[in-house]
Amino acid sequence: MAPSAPTPLYDAFARAPLHFVRGEGVRLFTEEGEEYLDFAAGIAVNSLGHSHPALVEALKSQAEKLWHVSNLYEIPGQFELGNKLCENSFADRVFFTNSGSESMECAFKTARRWHYDNGAPERVNIITFEGAFHGRTLAAIAAGGNPKYTEGFGPKVPGFVQVPFGDHDALKAAVDDETAAILVEPIQGEGGIRSVPHQCLRGMRELCDEKGIFLIYDEVQCGIGRTGRLFAHQWVDGAEPDIMAIAKGIGGGFPLGACLATEKAASAMQPGTHGTTYGGNPLAMAVGNAVMDVVLEEGFMDQVLESSRFLKQRLAEIADSHPTLLESARGDGLMQGLKCKAANTDVVAALREEHLLTVPAGDNVVRFVPPLTVSEEEIREALGKLDSALTAMEQAS
Ligand SMILES: *Cc1c(COP(=O)(O)O)cnc(C)c1O
Repeated sequence: MAPSAPTPLYDAFARAPLHFVRGEGVRLFTEEGEEYLDFAAGIAVNSLGHSHPALVEALKSQAEKLWHVSNLYEIPGQFELGNKLCENSFADRVFFTNSGSESMECAFKTARRWHYDNGAPERVNIITFEGAFHGRTLAAIAAGGNPKYTEGFGPKVPGFVQVPFGDHDALKAAVDDETAAILVEPIQGEGGIRSVPHQCLRGMRELCDEKGIFLIYDEVQCGIGRTGRLFAHQWVDGAEPDIMAIAKGIGGGFPLGACLATEKAASAMQPGTHGTTYGGNPLAMAVGNAVMDVVLEEGFMDQVLESSRFLKQRLAEIADSHPTLLESARGDGLMQGLKCKAANTDVVAALREEHLLTVPAGDNVVRFVPPLTVSEEEIREALGKLDSALTAMEQAS
């Protein structure tokens, strides 16, 4: 039974009137056995789909041994997963969290604390970009700068300076003696699947080196194989960050995030400077390690790339063939978007009627972020539903 009013829950979400009881791969099932194709993947979280056997096994076997001990003690799974992340990225050090927002918080504190410890305590400001989304904690909404999310929540956490997306001159002008870091999503997710051009990321890297400040990436949504590389910025030569927040895909559905950093950036974070009760607990580590083992398997990324090319090309064709409803297709890897002329929420609802789940994003975009394990056949099926939904919308108008 779907819950009905009066509800004990905060009205903070505009939920679709659907609830699922089971998932398998790219499919979700309601209690009545109705089947949906899941190109929302819990907002780019279910990187290996639902009920992936390796993840189920990892969680079950850990659940029978040990759930939680806190960071008062060593947790071997943290060393194991930390090594996997560092061996496959710019990073030397990792701090585990439970969410994207917490990973961002750790990134902010890491950057500020380094300057504090290195003779520049006035360097506290973090420069961000319009359209950014970094989470919903007080600092993360200040960083994102979206008035919809900051309104009514008291004084904005100071120390965040925002510049227009893609405006390199404004960015240069914004860096001053109080700047600690530049923070950017290599591909904006919530902002509407907007990729930062590769030369801009390189430009930011150069600017940070020149000014002695940190480059922070938010790869909470675009990381962990979503673009066909482990991290989206790895497509770009000469644009590695100093600090990076991840979450979503790394847990495959288990709440898990991490802040990655170079040895230098992490050096000021000493015992007592930061903490978390749950972050990196044995259950999360068992699942995170299992996700990484699958994603790092030989051939996995090739498969993601192949699926991406197919999806991207077909979305572009569909955008062309429905010019009254759609403007264009855009995105990288399995992080694709359709910029709409019709309201994106109407398109998402029409797709849901066809039993295809997608996610609305900013800039009137519909997001397609299926599990990385999606097959060409499943993409074909989703595109068929998309085409039918759009055709029905055209006929109704
Ligand atoms: C989802 C998201 C966050 C916030 O993650 P939570 O787990 O909801 O706190 C931060 N940054 C980006 C880019 C995201 O997509």
